[in-house]
This record gives sequence, structure tokens and C-alpha cells, in this order.
Amino acid sequence: MKSTMQDTPLSIGQLVRYGTSIHPSAEVTTWSETGPTTVTFADLGRRAAQLAHGLRALGIDDDQRVATFMWNNSAHMEAYMAIPAMGAVLHTLNIRLFPEQLTYIVDHADDRVIIVDASLLPLLGPLLPTMPSVRHLIVVGADPAGVRAPEGMEVHGYDDVLAGQPEEFDWPELDERSAAAMCYTSGTTGDPKGVVYSHRSIWLHSMQVCMTDAMALDQSDTVLAIVPMFHAMSWGLPYAALMVGASLIMPDRFLQPAPLAEMMTALRPTAAAAVPTIWQALLVYVEDHPTDLSCLRDVSVGGSACPPSVIRAFHDKYGVHISQAWGMTETSPLGTSGRPDAGLSPEEEFDLRCTQGRFVSGVRARLVGDVGTELPWDGQHVGELQVRGPWITGSYYRDDTTDKFDDGWLRTGDVGTISEGGYLTLTDRSKDIIKSGGEWISSVELENHVMEHPAVREAAVIGVPDPKWDERPLVAVVVRDGQSVTADELRTFLDGRVAHWQLPERWTFIDEVPKTSVGKYDKKRLRSQHADGGLE
Ligand code: ADP
Repeated sequence: MKSTMQDTPLSIGQLVRYGTSIHPSAEVTTWSETGPTTVTFADLGRRAAQLAHGLRALGIDDDQRVATFMWNNSAHMEAYMAIPAMGAVLHTLNIRLFPEQLTYIVDHADDRVIIVDASLLPLLGPLLPTMPSVRHLIVVGADPAGVRAPEGMEVHGYDDVLAGQPEEFDWPELDERSAAAMCYTSGTTGDPKGVVYSHRSIWLHSMQVCMTDAMALDQSDTVLAIVPMFHAMSWGLPYAALMVGASLIMPDRFLQPAPLAEMMTALRPTAAAAVPTIWQALLVYVEDHPTDLSCLRDVSVGGSACPPSVIRAFHDKYGVHISQAWGMTETSPLGTSGRPDAGLSPEEEFDLRCTQGRFVSGVRARLVGDVGTELPWDGQHVGELQVRGPWITGSYYRDDTTDKFDDGWLRTGDVGTISEGGYLTLTDRSKDIIKSGGEWISSVELENHVMEHPAVREAAVIGVPDPKWDERPLVAVVVRDGQSVTADELRTFLDGRVAHWQLPERWTFIDEVPKTSVGKYDKKRLRSQHADGGLE
């Protein structure tokens, strides 16, 4: 029997119509050197319509790819709205990828247009001759006259593209399964891989982000979107904000702790989202520069495991709850969310906040062991996490990789346990796990323990070759300014916290842990720096 329901498509066009008409006074505020600039959703709607008309005038009339090379700012939000809503495909370029990776993905996605922030032209400009698919470069925030482009590429000013265009656009009714946006993974092994989101997947994912057991967003919220709009679509925040009329604060290129603290003081966000390294740096900063963080009802942390010491410090010193979420570019990204049940003791709640959280309703999960058998959810069995759901990719764009998929499930490459209650605890990425004498050592667990030490600012653990045990852990430590600690003291500190055989012999003290393009510990780089086994 068929339902009697209307089969109207879920689309970004409808999200734009809704956000701009039902929540016209919600705002997007962009930080700059000269102070914040605010536009309303109504303004954004008018400008998104003008951008869509402008892109049509440049020949974008189908599902061509329109890329962005931008910070988080209101012009980027306009691109998020206009490009998919008009039926084209938004491709958010990660500005921190290596040049050859950018050349590769622009060609692979066949990008026709790139919208670039003027402040990023020094990065993109030299690469333009390697990007022959790009016919139009649109520059935001500077006179395009001085911009040199290769033959066959026209340069426009963003405001010129919008100027004189109608402030309304009849957003077309599109197939909800058609492509709306795409992101490439950062390609730690091999070439980056393209994930293509549909209108439907983005719509459903946005609903999930807003739900009370995820970020619990509503129109009273102001969200500081620190996570870049080129990192898994800023974790879905731009579209989620349109869906509920939440205001957004966009930090543009001001991602250091000092301006972030200033934004919190001046603009009072109620929620914020970023990778752990941002919160670690902010914690260090606010210790010396007291900042009122009481506006934050919730902070979402994901992208890598959040050290328990960070969760505790935010709670105990500033009364801020950290909710950990797990996800991937391939999962849109929200897969789990860490909001423990009410009525738990503070310690029980803390322990659950240190897990990666519970799976959200649209995501099915299973744990798979070495020989391909499904493992029980008992908090003990360790296996690879596999997931399935309407906002999880089932393949990569123009790529016939099959080893990342297993019978319709995405193999995440993440290893851990799931408790009876559905809480995920990741011990490692499979490529980071340390195999020592036939046993596994979790690099994340060691890092968390080392970071409990008051003199430690950052700690990253990698496996290095060892003639006797195959691999042993090496700990790279960043000591807090003005403090000192030795390897022996740290070993003593760890003794009793981890099994004796796991105690690392190899330690190195560095100024900063190298970070990936999205601000995570770059263990690949660390490993190459310590390929000699780390013994000094
Ligand atoms: P990249 O592959 O460049 O890191 P992604 O952001 O797609 O880009 O990374 C997804 C991976 O990040 C996951 O597979 C997982 O290893 C890690 N990750 C994400 N969230 C968490 C979390 N809360 N705890 C631990 N690891 C996480």
C-alpha cells in the first residue's frame, strides 16, 4: 500500500526560502580586523538570489561545480545558499591542502568557477595555471583589476557579479537525490577522495544536527562556527542554522585563541564547534587572559578524540559542557553525539562525555572483528566501526575504491568498542594503533593520560619500529610555557595509569605538534620525523 503523502523534494532551495522568510532577522556576523559586520538572513537571501543570477549569467545553468576557496564568512554563506539552491554543486576547497592536491581535486571535480577570498589569493593565485577547467575566478573583498589569471580564465569582482541582479530567485524544484555539495577527504593515503552530498542527505543531516540529542539548536542560539566551512561543511552548521533560525558567528581568518576569546566576550555565542586543538589552545590562553565563557551553553568537539583533561577543565573552571561528536567527511559528518542522560552522578556523566557519544537516530552502526565477524556491544570487544545511513556515503566520486565499503556499510577505519547503551569509545584510527609484541596499545589513551599532567600542553603518540616488539610508542610532548618536566617524571606519572608494559621508553620534547589541514595532530608527519625509531 502506498502512502497518501505528497512527494515533495527535500531541497536546499526550500531551506533557503524557509530560513530567509520565517527567520529574516536571524543574523550572520563576520569577524574582521575592523570589528564585526552583521547581515540578516533576509539580506543573505537577497544576496544569494543575486549571486545565483550572476552565476547564471556566467553560464552556470546545470549541475556544474562552483568551488569556494574561502574562510568562514557571510559571503561563503551566500555561496552555500545560492549554489546548491540554483541546481549547481558547491565544492568547498580545503585551503590548507598541498598545492598538488588542490590541482588534483579541482580537475577531478571539474570545477568551472572558483569564488576566492582576496586574503587567500596569494595561496590560490600561483595554482591557477594548473586549473584549466576553471573559466571564472570571482574575488571577494578586493578590486579584481590587479589579479592575474591564465588565458581562458576571466576574473570578476564578487560585488560586480551581484550588482544589478534581481534580489529574488525562483529556486527550482530539484530531485532531492541530486548532488548539492561536495568535499574531498584530505587524502592521508593516496589521492583525496570526493564525497558528494545530496539535497536530501543535507536536509536530513541538518534536522539531526538541530535535534536536542545533538546540538539542540533553536532560534535563540548564536553559534560560533569555528570549524571551517571547507571541513565537512562546517559540520552542517550553516544549513542547520537556516533550518531553525539560529544566528551564526563566522571567525573568517581569525582562528587564534586571542580573537576567539574576543568574539566570545563581544558577541556572546551560546554554542560553538571546533576540533580539540582549538579548545586546548583556548584553555591555555584564557588562563592568562580571564575571559567570561558563561555564554556558552554547549561546545561541540569532534574530528579527533577530545582529551578528558580538556573536558574537565572547561567544566570545572568555566562551567562549560563539552559534547563530543564523532564523524567523518564521509558521514556528513554527524555520526554520534555525546549528551549523557539526565540524572547521572557528575563522575558518571564525565565518563560518558569522554566517550565519542551515542549514535544518532539516522545512523546504524556495527563493530566488525578481524575475521569479519560482527562483535557484541559490550564495551569490551574491540573492532572496526562500520556505519550506514541516509547521510553516509556509499561510494566516492569517480573512484572505484571498494575496500572502504562492506556490503553497503562504510568501513570507517576507526577502531574501538561500543557499550550496551550504544556509547562509542574509539581507541584509535586503525593506521595509528600501535602493535607491540602482539598486543595493541591505544595511542589516544596514552595521549589522554600524558595530557593530564599539569605541565603538558599537548601530547601526541605514534608507533615507531622496534627490533624486539615490532612497534613501541613514542610520545611527542609540548610543555606549557614557564613549566618543565622530564621524560622520567612523565613515565612515573603514567605508571599505574596504564599497564606497565605499555609505559613508553621513547619521549621527545617539541615546540608544537604538527597539525593536519583541519587542525588535527598530523601523525603521518610525526612518523616521518621519527622514522629512525625515536631513540636518541
Ligand atoms: P581527515 O580524514 O582529514 O581527518 P575527517 O574529518 O573526515 O578528515 O576525519 C574523520 C576521522 O576523524 C574519523 O574517521 C576519526 O578517526 C576522527 N574523528 C572524528 N571525530 C572523532 C572523535 N570525536 N574522537 C576520535 N576521533 C574522531
